[in-house]
Amino acid sequence: MITSADLHLSENNGSQASVGLPMKVAVFSAKKYDQDGFTQWADPSLQFSYFDSRLNALNVKLAQGCHAICAFVNDDLSADVLQQMSAMGIEMVALRCAGFNNVDLDTAKALGIRIARVPAYSPEAVAEHTVAMMLTLNRKLHKAFNRVRDDNFAIDGLLGFNMHGKTVGLIGTGRIGLATARILKGFGCKLLCYDVEPTDELADSYVSLNELYAQSDIISLHCPLNPATKHLINSDSLAKMRDGVMLINTSRGGLVNTKTVIQGLKSRKIGYLGLDVYEQEADIFFENLSEQVIDDDVFKRLLTFPNVLITSHQAFFTKEALAQISTITSENLMAFAGGNATGNELVK
Ligand code: NAD
Repeated sequence: MITSADLHLSENNGSQASVGLPMKVAVFSAKKYDQDGFTQWADPSLQFSYFDSRLNALNVKLAQGCHAICAFVNDDLSADVLQQMSAMGIEMVALRCAGFNNVDLDTAKALGIRIARVPAYSPEAVAEHTVAMMLTLNRKLHKAFNRVRDDNFAIDGLLGFNMHGKTVGLIGTGRIGLATARILKGFGCKLLCYDVEPTDELADSYVSLNELYAQSDIISLHCPLNPATKHLINSDSLAKMRDGVMLINTSRGGLVNTKTVIQGLKSRKIGYLGLDVYEQEADIFFENLSEQVIDDDVFKRLLTFPNVLITSHQAFFTKEALAQISTITSENLMAFAGGNATGNELVK
């Protein structure tokens, strides 16, 4: 970890202007666990101001007087927000997440705003949650939990299948896809993989996307959301899948066309659906809305299916991952402060 002491001693060896210390950072979408993480793991010379609201064009002014913004998955870093940041003299964004589909990178580059992320805080955290969703849907643990608490010890309706011998299709075999593959190999699953940049460790498993769709009992998404992958799961791809397929998405909501998936559930094409992410999650996830009316009819329809399991973007949420997120975000900010490269830049 880079400390403030290191920073004062080191030469500015980057091409960027340094802001020096103490560095003021506006943290948006801040929860108690973010604050706890930074209190425990961040360099003490970073001064954080916490805002629980999601960053957007209306509230970016809250960051006035800060040197950097720290943002999360559903914060809005579109052109308008970046332009307002730039006008306030803020030239740094530290994302405390891996995905960056919410950032207009071209505008950031044009404005000279540096963006860094936490590329790999814990692939295992997300992979383990992915497999937890597969097992819960398969063995109906969520139903069993409630039944037993209700003194209902009947097991009819809870019939599952052996994971051993089943074919799992992994779309995207980067850090998280690979960690998921390693776990599933231990279960005795057959893996079929697809990636635009294959990895040596899974060299024997790569097939075409069409073959993956046609052969897989379970399909799990681990590729980023970008123009090429938006609505990857649509009526065409669904039609190529096995009847009763299990579909898991712990990547980004926009990979799945939700309305099409609802049709797939109604037609029984999809036998099980596990989502940790949802295209319109920004209005719902990370908040306690239990006393409010939810207006999103598509989301509420999803919740009516007995074979759908939704978690609210918690796949990353382990103690180990939080420690990594806080530590690496702090290192990114300290590097920014000293005008040094972090190695985690999306825009330098
Ligand atoms: P990564 O960059 O290590 O791996 C992504 C892989 O997808 C790469 O191998 C890449 O080549 C591949 N890919 C890119 N375009 C593709 C395409 N069109 N088709 C198939 N593969 C393609 O990223 P990662 O750390 O494994 O994360 C994967 C995704 O998981 C992230 O983009 C992020 O959106 C999501 N994520 C979710 C959570 C969560 O809590 N639910 C946490 C972290 C990351």
